[in-house]
Order: sequence, then C-alpha cells, then structure tokens
Amino acid sequence: MSKPLFEKIALVGIGLIGSSLARVICREGLAGHIAIATRSAETLKRAEELKLGDGYTTDAKEAVRGADLVVVSVPVGGSGAVAEVIAPALTTGAILTDVGSTKVSVIARMQPFVPEGVHFIPGHPLAGTEKSGPDAGFAELFENRWCIFTPLEGTDPAALEKLSEFWRRCGSHIDTMEPQHHDMTMAIVSHLPHMIAYNIVGTADDLETATKNKVIKYSATGFRDFTRLASSDPTMWRDVCLNNRDAILEMLARFSEDLAYLQRALRWCQGDKLFDFFTRTRAIRRSIIVAGQDVDVPDFGRQALRNLPLTQE
Ligand code: NAP
Repeated sequence: MSKPLFEKIALVGIGLIGSSLARVICREGLAGHIAIATRSAETLKRAEELKLGDGYTTDAKEAVRGADLVVVSVPVGGSGAVAEVIAPALTTGAILTDVGSTKVSVIARMQPFVPEGVHFIPGHPLAGTEKSGPDAGFAELFENRWCIFTPLEGTDPAALEKLSEFWRRCGSHIDTMEPQHHDMTMAIVSHLPHMIAYNIVGTADDLETATKNKVIKYSATGFRDFTRLASSDPTMWRDVCLNNRDAILEMLARFSEDLAYLQRALRWCQGDKLFDFFTRTRAIRRSIIVAGQDVDVPDFGRQALRNLPLTQE
C-alpha cells in the first residue's frame, strides 16, 4: 500500500461532514492516524462505536497535537472558539482547513488565532444531505461534488496543492474563489432555496388542520421536495443565515421582486409571460443534469442514489 498523504489527520467535529471524511480517509488510506474530537461525550462514544478513527477525545487541543492536517467541521458560529482552543497545539507546517458553508465570517472568526507557520486554507465541500451526526455520514458523499477553497493572500502553493490532492482523493473536483464571491454564490444556489423551503413548509404548518392533512397526503406533487430541505439541521442553518446575512438578504430582495413579477403576470392573465418564464427555468434544470450534478429521473434520483447526496450545501 502506498504511503498515506498525511501522517496524522485530526477531525474536529464528527457529524455528517466529519464522519463522511473519516470514512473516505479510511477507505482511501489517506492518513497514518485519524484523531477524532467532538464536543459531547455522546457523539464521541458513537464515533468510537462506529470505529471512525484511531484516537478519540473531547479535547480538540489534544486531537490536533502533531497533526499535519486539521479539518474543522463544526457549525460556522462555533469555528472561532474552536480555532482559539486548538491554536496553541497546532504544529508548524500543518494545514488547517474547515468545511463551513460560509467563508467571509469563518475567515474573520478563525484567522486571528492561526499561529505563524500554520497554513490556514478555508474550504467548503458542496456536498451534503439534510441529515446530521456521525451516523449520517458515508464515504461517497464527496464523489463528483465540488470542493471550493477561498485561499488567503500569500497561501503557500504547495500546501494548497496538497489539500487539493486530499479532496481529489475524496472524490471531489476543486475550484477556488474569493470569499465574498463564494458567499454570494452560495446565497443563491443554497441559502435562498433553504429559506424558501423553510418558509413554504412553515406556511403549510400554519394552515388549519383539515387542509394540512391534505398537504401531507398529496405531498408528492411538489411539497415533498421542499420538506427535505426544510428538515435540515436548525443549528447549522441558523448559523449559515446569521453568517451570510447580507448576501441572503440581497437574494431575498431579488426573489421578492421576481415573485412580484409572476404575481402581476398571473393577476393580469399574462400567459405568455408565465410561459416564457417557466421555459427559461426549465433550461436551468437541463444544464444541471448536463453538468452531472443531478440525474434525469422522475424522482430526482432519490431511489437510484439511495443515500447519496442530493443537495449542494
Ligand atoms: P453536524 O452533523 O450537526 O455535526 C456537527 C459537529 O460539530 C458535531 O461533532 C458537534 O459536536 C460539533 N459541534 C456542534 N456545535 C459546536 C460548537 N458550537 N462548537 C464545537 N463543536 C460543535 O454538522 P455537519 O452537517 O457535519 O456540518 C458541519 C459543518 O459543515 C458546518 O459548518 C456546515 O456549514 C458545513 N457543511 C454542511 C453541509 C451539510 O449539508 N450538512 C454541507 C457542506 C458543509 P457534538 O455532537 O459533540 O455536540
């Protein structure tokens, strides 16, 4: 077997993303040693039962000692506190990365604590599901998905290449972006759809009981697809919203304007306008399939992909 890419990888946070990483690192032999740290004793016990690593601790500082790669996979609001705790134990020359869904705020939270000589490279794998916790992860999560880096000025190219190689071996394609550009892009492709889904499901929940029962009964007509997004982890999504507030508010404003356009077209029975709009949006779905980011089957691949990721958070 060839030499592992890293001698010791520390995974701080072992939920959906951290445990998926643990599984693929193990499958691909990417680390000589996998150290796992999580906040609670219960999650740690579960990670140990699932045999996700080689060492387990609730002390993140202990886990990162001697690691040449540290991956922080916690809700973005917690990333600064984690960086503060682990900073004194980070090894010179180590790569420190994260998987947070927002980048500007994560950089602002973590960077001040990163010691000289540690390569901090913020990252975001665009792969996820609505599930959370160590049981939810699977080794194939990152396959054929994008992993975006938002490198800081002066990032060591060799460290960036090594981290890119790591994610490629996890199955991902790599892209780099400015942090602001990343956050604006995610606001439209991921954060806005989640806000809309939370809102639609919330509206249905407010309906009177008789109507609500019918909504559940006939949910396969469209509502069901929103419920999947709207069942995503509340802590993660609270943090995403608060940490990408400006970009999400901007997208919500544009969304409201476009919705008003549709509302007006409907009020005035302007079928041509509705038809043209729906034709334009249909083409977007086709381009997503052509780009290999979804499959063209009536159930959106739910059966075919079983547990494989359907979202790009
Ligand atoms: P998750 O399944 O809920 O797991 C969260 C992990 O972080 C657990 O180990 C948890 O520890 C720990 N944690 C929670 N709050 C913490 C805090 N305040 N301080 C320190 N540790 C804390 O979450 P996930 O889905 O893996 O998401 C992790 C990160 O990946 C988030 O930043 C998210 O934005 C990003 N991301 C998520 C997705 C997705 O679809 N889920 C996709 C791409 C990126 P305990 O259980 O021990 O409390």
